[in-house]
Amino acid sequence: MPERSTYKTTTARRAPRDEGFVQDEQVILEGVDISGQWNKMYEPREIVDYDLTHLEELTAIPGAESMGWCYQCAQCIPACPVDTAGGDYGPRKIFRRLQTGMDLFDHQDMWLCTSCQNCVRVCPKEVDMVEIMPAARAQAVLDGRNVPGELLEMFQNVAEYGNPMGESARRRTRWTRKAGVDIRLLPKNPGPVDVLWFVGDYYAFHNRGVDAAQAMARVFSRLGVDFGILGVDERTDGDSQRLAGEPGLFEEVAEHNLEQFGKYEFGKIVVSGPHAYNAIKNEYPRVSHGKTGGDTYPVEHYTQFLAQQVDALAPLLSGSFARKVTFHDPCYLGRHNGEYDAPRRLLEAVPGIEFVEMYRCKAQGYCCGGGGGGMWLDGFAAEHQMERLSENRVKEAVEVGAEVLAVCCPYEVSRFEDAVKSTDNDGKLEVLDIIEILDACMEPIGEGVA
Ligand code: SF4
Ligand code: SF4
Repeated sequence: MPERSTYKTTTARRAPRDEGFVQDEQVILEGVDISGQWNKMYEPREIVDYDLTHLEELTAIPGAESMGWCYQCAQCIPACPVDTAGGDYGPRKIFRRLQTGMDLFDHQDMWLCTSCQNCVRVCPKEVDMVEIMPAARAQAVLDGRNVPGELLEMFQNVAEYGNPMGESARRRTRWTRKAGVDIRLLPKNPGPVDVLWFVGDYYAFHNRGVDAAQAMARVFSRLGVDFGILGVDERTDGDSQRLAGEPGLFEEVAEHNLEQFGKYEFGKIVVSGPHAYNAIKNEYPRVSHGKTGGDTYPVEHYTQFLAQQVDALAPLLSGSFARKVTFHDPCYLGRHNGEYDAPRRLLEAVPGIEFVEMYRCKAQGYCCGGGGGGMWLDGFAAEHQMERLSENRVKEAVEVGAEVLAVCCPYEVSRFEDAVKSTDNDGKLEVLDIIEILDACMEPIGEGVA
């Protein structure tokens, strides 16, 4: 900035307005004559006065503040799986729409985010959709503002039955009857165990999840794992309810599960699903409950637990699995919790397997569409996207020539099996939980072994 005394100017010649600039007739700056076009300046641009009511309504919600930090660089858009599937989505677009008058509480954008965290990975401004959307949804649920009916039904099921499917708690252990091995139910036989296996809803109730649960029980038995389950006393882990906008329900089921954990003596919790892993590891410690409050328990996803024992596991894998297999990283095991190796170590231990990565894998992995409440919003998403995320993923698995899509999240077998059918890939691609592949390579034991 020049000192005032060195800056001399004569009366300005104002250029006609349609030329869009101003020019002083004579200017001497620090002794240099910059008259004429050298001091030509464009007129200040007109600033558009946005009505920021809706943006400010959102950013005033605790947890949703970072939506206001977006500076429109657009890095997040190609990272967003919803946008890739034709959903015209991503934080940049949401920010811009809010700036130009969209009321998020009245718009489908509120419910399309799967909380996959891929945009957070690339955003230079730390706009955090995994914090923003659950906070905004919680407000929408609280105010009863346009919450999709499928979600309300799911919340109701969890409140009433302790699981999103609305199944009776008594049926939680039905799958154990045909596992072919003894499974210890801790409520009936409460002595100490090495492992408390948190089975999860889809393993307990869904017809394909049951296959994986039975496979897990057999693999644990062959390895000699001393384990027990909560059986009828288990409730859903609550992670999806929290992300879909029901933090109160999450706390309720978390408190219940923590109370059950507190009843038994065990070395660690092993979970079937990435959401249970995320909840027990990262969210339950924040829940204060009853006498103990905010308990932290050692917890491992089953792939982590088994990968640590791969030397003991490998000799048990006597059968060959001579097929081309690819693996889908679950967002809540991979990106959210940094575990990419354990599932791959298990697959590499399988004799005969030919492993192939998909283009989008590990930290850049694609999303199945089931996170953040998406598990119950397929119908809603279909109205606003060109395809389901699971369909996009299945096409990629087929493109890399895989015959088997291996998964390790209880949501995914059913999601991807549906997508295999809807993309006309029936017979070309099989979807299997990693635990099913391990079990298939071991010597059959007991009745009911597939
Ligand atoms: S990457 Fe972040 S700052 Fe850039 S447009 Fe997306 S949300 Fe905005
Ligand atoms: S968290 Fe995932 S689905 Fe949600 S906006 Fe970001 S990239 Fe898209």
